[in-house]
Amino acid sequence: MSGFGKCTVIVGCQWGDEGKGKIVDVLAEGVDIVARYQGGANAGHTVHVGDDEFILHQIPSGILHEGRRCLLGNGVVLDIVQFFQEFDALAERGIDLTGRVGVSRRAHLLLPYHRLMDKAAEQSAAEKIGTTGRGIGPAYEDKAGRRGVRVADLGNRPRLESRVASAMSRVCERLDRLGQGAGTDLERAMEEALSLGDRLLALSCDTGPEITRALDAGQRVLLEGAQGTVLDLDHGTYPFVTSSNTTAAGAAIGTGIGPTRIDDVVGVVKAYITRVGEGPLPTGMDQAMDEHMRQLGGEFGATTGRPRRCGWFDSVISRFAAQVNGLTGLAVTKLDVLDTLPEIKVATAYTMPDGSVVEDFPADTWSLGDIVPVYETHPGWECSTAGARTLADLPPNARSYLDRLEELTGAPVRWVSVGTKRSQIIQL
Ligand code: GDP
Repeated sequence: MSGFGKCTVIVGCQWGDEGKGKIVDVLAEGVDIVARYQGGANAGHTVHVGDDEFILHQIPSGILHEGRRCLLGNGVVLDIVQFFQEFDALAERGIDLTGRVGVSRRAHLLLPYHRLMDKAAEQSAAEKIGTTGRGIGPAYEDKAGRRGVRVADLGNRPRLESRVASAMSRVCERLDRLGQGAGTDLERAMEEALSLGDRLLALSCDTGPEITRALDAGQRVLLEGAQGTVLDLDHGTYPFVTSSNTTAAGAAIGTGIGPTRIDDVVGVVKAYITRVGEGPLPTGMDQAMDEHMRQLGGEFGATTGRPRRCGWFDSVISRFAAQVNGLTGLAVTKLDVLDTLPEIKVATAYTMPDGSVVEDFPADTWSLGDIVPVYETHPGWECSTAGARTLADLPPNARSYLDRLEELTGAPVRWVSVGTKRSQIIQL
């Protein structure tokens, strides 16, 4: 697959689960390096290759293409135990990983105490965020609090030990206060995690210089985001967000390249919308339709199996995503999921509680729970799109629907995905 920039960011434009994994997998064929720039094992990308299904949490989806180098940038928080479980599972399934995986020496480690803290904090919180409980939030808190342990620290035992010891005493104190002991399990889990230190060090690298040199040498790079735009720590529906910058600007920070090296930003949107975890979903469907869409789209989390709430395509959000990410194009996924619907709604604006109509995404998260979307209704196409490989193969109603998404979003549709398989993609 060609037709995209030398250094392209792939960013989710909704609440995650847009099908970024599939788009990265398809585009990865035409690149040399794929790098993740934020998030941790809370991401779950499902990729289908032939009859095989791969669920990737930390290793970039490019790993499924022979020879591609796959990097985890400084912006990720690396769960070392999970990382090697994933690594070994891929190797067992015959994927050759030799020399192909690199981890930034500046990346922060997500250690077993972060998981404990995550669960304890969420259980005792007055307002639940709906986290995956994988320790991502606490690991980023430690990073911002300058208490984190980085991959580079693994190479200096005394420093590592002193940083881990002070983290452990802080964590145990806090767990005690929350009335939850850490127990001996934590010590065992810490030993297991740190015993993998040398193995991780052997993969460590400096992602910024490596990617920059590759670009200088004419190689092609994909920068892969996790989660989605409205889960961005700064720009999302705070506080119901993830703890990192998921948006395209985060790709430079999170890998260590300069922002001027990025020349293409592809936003991935589903042809409808879903949300997992807590927080408002303005275009949420009524109960029966929500259930129907969940079954049609198989909308259950790849990481947690949690059912995702379903909604109509929200162009207030996609427009916002186009602006905040500087989108140069869209990849629309799961068009086929709408194949049987007689009518399809699209939100064009929001009616706010005070009666005003807005087209910009509001900063006040709580107001989103009280808005009424302004919908337009499109006729469905009521036939299968799964076999379409060109735009001309799509029924006229599906083409008009895509034209309208493009117009409302303000970014051109460049790919349309019509099924889980690699071949089920239309390039425009
Ligand atoms: P990601 O985290 O953004 O990569 O998304 P997920 O992997 O959580 O969810 C995407 C799911 O949708 C996966 O199971 C994909 O195989 C599937 N998928 C991706 N594109 C399409 C598509 O065009 N049609 C259908 N039916 N499924 C798709």
